[in-house]
Amino acid sequence: MKAAVLDGPNKDVRFEERDRPAPRRGEVLIRVRACGVCHGDLMLQLGQFPFARYPIVPGHEVAGVIEEIGEDVTELQPGTRVGLSALFSSCGSCKQCVGDDEFLCSQMQFTGITRDGGYEEFMVAPAGYVARLPDNLDFVDAAPLMCAGLTVFSGLRHAGFAPGFRVAVIGLGGLGHLAVLLVRAMNGRVAVLSTSADKGDQALALGAERFIDLKVESSATALRSWEGGADIIVATSPVADSMVAAFPGLALNGTMVVLGAPPDNIAVSPFDLIMGRRRLMGSPAGSRKDLRDVLEFASAHNIRPTVTRMSLEDAGNALKEMHEGRIRGRAVFVM
Ligand SMILES: [Zn+2]
Ligand SMILES: [Zn+2]
Repeated sequence: MKAAVLDGPNKDVRFEERDRPAPRRGEVLIRVRACGVCHGDLMLQLGQFPFARYPIVPGHEVAGVIEEIGEDVTELQPGTRVGLSALFSSCGSCKQCVGDDEFLCSQMQFTGITRDGGYEEFMVAPAGYVARLPDNLDFVDAAPLMCAGLTVFSGLRHAGFAPGFRVAVIGLGGLGHLAVLLVRAMNGRVAVLSTSADKGDQALALGAERFIDLKVESSATALRSWEGGADIIVATSPVADSMVAAFPGLALNGTMVVLGAPPDNIAVSPFDLIMGRRRLMGSPAGSRKDLRDVLEFASAHNIRPTVTRMSLEDAGNALKEMHEGRIRGRAVFVM
């Protein structure tokens, strides 16, 4: 089978012919049908995860079919349609693991970062960490939910989203466009902030009521004119300056949730923070419960990501195009 491999930081994607792996006790073998390309894959290529293990097969937005099961796997059968997120495994017994918060487990293993991921035709995964895909969700639409959708959904949940909230979304890439779709489906209101004026039409078509061009308008002023500011700002673009500039555009008691990791510190004014009782928080992808919930929600509300289909052979180009900001929606390898 074919696998795309990164040998270390700042290396090009290399292809390798490998034997199909065999599932061990408690594992399943997944025939990968679609795998999304996440900004995290680019960070992996750039060497920005100190805990990454190279050589590695990237990819943590996996959607596929179970091909084979290992010993002691009882809940899943060959033919079951499943997905796998960045949460490859965790200890299973710490406070976080028993509290539906496995993504904060100190023993967590990351799909496609510390364990081989979905940039290959077949991969093994622990049976307890794969999620069944709802029947009406096809593989290509499901893949971007495994990280982009999950991260946004979990971030909104932890930021205290409620129907009617005004949510500002910074950036309209993989996470950003799913944030617009999810917030609208949850009866929230959306403004999109972007440095690309040409994303305005897409933002409105996805359901945003405002588009704020960061090259023309001050984000804080524009957001404050939106009935006093945003209740939640979902910061998906990994640009610290955009986050700092937008922060005073939060309503009183508002929360900025940082999902994209900028290389620089995010320095907000303590007066904006204290006097408006505002919060600045981060949020990693999400738990298995979050994943089940976002899949169910997407299925019930017919959430369909904007996808650029590619083949696995394009892996090198996909990362390059992502680096240059040229991908529309989410790039997904279709096997
Ligand atoms: Zn990701
Ligand atoms: Zn744990």
